[in-house]
Amino acid sequence: MDTPEKISDYTQVDALMLSLIDEVSTYMKKPKEQIHKVLWDTYIFAREAHEGQYRKSGEPYILHPVSACEFLLHLKPDLVTLQSCILHDVIEDTDHDRASIEKNFWEEVASICEGLSKLSAIKYQGEERTVESLRKMLVAMVQDLRVIIVKLADRMHNMRTLDFHPDPKKRERIALETLNIYAPIADRLGLFRMKIMLETECFRILHPEDYTRIMKELEDMREEQEFFLEKANAVIRKVIPKNIPIIEISYRIKAPYSIYRKLLRKEYSYTTPRDLYDLFAIRIITQTIPQCYEVLGILHNVFIPMPKRFKDYIALPKENRYQSLHTTVVGLFPEVRSQPTEIQIRTPEMHLQAEIGIAAHFEYSESGTSKNSKDSYWVQTIKEIVNHGLDGGDFMKEMHMNVFSDQIFVFTPKGDIITLPKWATPVDFAYAIHSRIGNELAIAKMNGQVIPLDYELKNGESIQIVTDKNRKPNPTWLSIAKTPKAREHIRQFINSEERNYFIEKGRSILHSYLEKNYGKGLDKDFSILKHLDGKTLDTKQKEDVLVQLGNLSRKPISIVKALSDTIIKEALGERKIVEEIPEKTKTRTKNEWLTQDEKSSVIIGKQKDIPYKIAQCCDPKMWDKIVWVIGQWVVTIHNFECENLEKVNLDRRIPATWWTENTDGMIIIIGCVVHDRKWLLKELTEIFYHMELNIEDIKIEVLSNGLRRNIFTLRSDDEDYYLYERLSERLKFAVPDIMELSLISIK
Ligand code: MN
Repeated sequence: MDTPEKISDYTQVDALMLSLIDEVSTYMKKPKEQIHKVLWDTYIFAREAHEGQYRKSGEPYILHPVSACEFLLHLKPDLVTLQSCILHDVIEDTDHDRASIEKNFWEEVASICEGLSKLSAIKYQGEERTVESLRKMLVAMVQDLRVIIVKLADRMHNMRTLDFHPDPKKRERIALETLNIYAPIADRLGLFRMKIMLETECFRILHPEDYTRIMKELEDMREEQEFFLEKANAVIRKVIPKNIPIIEISYRIKAPYSIYRKLLRKEYSYTTPRDLYDLFAIRIITQTIPQCYEVLGILHNVFIPMPKRFKDYIALPKENRYQSLHTTVVGLFPEVRSQPTEIQIRTPEMHLQAEIGIAAHFEYSESGTSKNSKDSYWVQTIKEIVNHGLDGGDFMKEMHMNVFSDQIFVFTPKGDIITLPKWATPVDFAYAIHSRIGNELAIAKMNGQVIPLDYELKNGESIQIVTDKNRKPNPTWLSIAKTPKAREHIRQFINSEERNYFIEKGRSILHSYLEKNYGKGLDKDFSILKHLDGKTLDTKQKEDVLVQLGNLSRKPISIVKALSDTIIKEALGERKIVEEIPEKTKTRTKNEWLTQDEKSSVIIGKQKDIPYKIAQCCDPKMWDKIVWVIGQWVVTIHNFECENLEKVNLDRRIPATWWTENTDGMIIIIGCVVHDRKWLLKELTEIFYHMELNIEDIKIEVLSNGLRRNIFTLRSDDEDYYLYERLSERLKFAVPDIMELSLISIK
């Protein structure tokens, strides 16, 4: 981008400043002349101090602090806050220091400005440094909350003008910093409007295309929403008796960035904002708390409330003091909107708190300065901790560590803090410490208890990783790990070591097959694979074939079939034993289960002997390419090309192969007492699948009171000394209604 032309004319900024003074005069109970004098003098001081300085946009620098003030107005700030905002860059960027501000203005203004200049020295250093930046920010903030409020406004205007920043990498870094530090702080202080403004700007900068799309879709829906509000308004006013005052009925639209995040979540199959049932909410403001409950009762009587959607934040306020009743009802005005509609009911005081959070508690004194009368629980806690002078780990630990919504802080046994994204698992934790710890991860413990590797870590937990040199990353960890770092290490490992493992396994499968059938094994160079499938293979390609054999995607007999007769004769000679080629399975009728001896003929994922049925639509035959589809009670085997598969969700499909041979390994038999219920089989087998355990046998004993004991005979390909420990923890965790779990035998 070319450097924009510099504008040295103050007409625009002066006008903005004057309109700002007008606005302030509407809410401040002071003569306008007085307000004008204080603010205008401050403005001229800052304007002169920044004389000759320009923004990246080419505009005079003073436009920045004045524009930042605009983002504060909805908080109805006091004069000190506004003055501090106008002067916020003076200490940092001009010749003036604290003393010179103190000489010209109130002491409080000087102190806030100094706090701000200290804050600007903190630079976001990426994930690892987050804790330290946050700590400094909080320390500065608790000295005077107005520091952070001005800081947020400053950041807001910088975000608005970020497009003028020439370096795209820097733009992204600044947006991420805003998203990870400033927006969560605004949220915690209850400064919702500020939080949403910040997040919306970050969204615009980080995902410009999605931003444009969502904003356009919202714009397109505006008219119909206003129409709906008008109708809903009339319907609600009609059902609520005259003796309950309805001060206002309005609506709020979900913020663009929240919409974006919700659309991204896979468990909902939403494609447009229109699909979101909580896209907008109706807000009813009535006078008193009893009236809030009365309104709620009436609405629940007239419309159908959705179960489990009622939340009473009046009796149980959120930590940032948000209070309101939330409910979701169906049929508010069905002609326009068929989805359920969220309704929020609150008093005017609660509404103010919801809009401006902490700022709602500023008390304005005669001098125009303010002091915050009551701090939120959160701020009180921070103050106590800061006053305790704790450092590093203890500081964060004490903080309840729920400051950030998208990050968690987890501790090593030594007390080091590991910052991880929300939903991270012990696998991420292990890799975050060191790639070697990740690669040798055997079990994870929390407070001495073994936890499943897919356990979702929570803020403040202390995790111990037990390593074992003989362990290797398991490919299923790819679905468990959430951090790019862990996934990259696992992938690297699978690509290198796992390949070697499969080559070795494939070599041994082919070797023993050839030896059994022809009395001759493989040579060192695998020369029998040199000419295969009508092609000449180099070493890497020969190894690729062994990998296919090793991971069971190709059977040894197919190798022999792909060899030319000459090679067979020369290299192998006559076949010793004629192998029985499996007979094609008979056509089955609908819902017919395979008989016991046929059960061993399908391997699903890496798991055998799950009760399954053959799909009638495509009726796959032995050795056809097949796919496993998870149903509610049973799995169904479809032909790979079956048209009906298109209708099945991708995550319910798992590739399957036919298989007949038995392998050696470890056999473990467990008993598991549980109430018979839907999905039980699926939940249990899924766990076995994730742990790469083959089910050799399932026995069911029916006990009294609807209980049953499932006895699973499981086979592991590896000798795994931690197997029962890991399995039992995972089962108890994932299927909490297990009444009793026992180890019957292990061999
Ligand atoms: Mn600034």
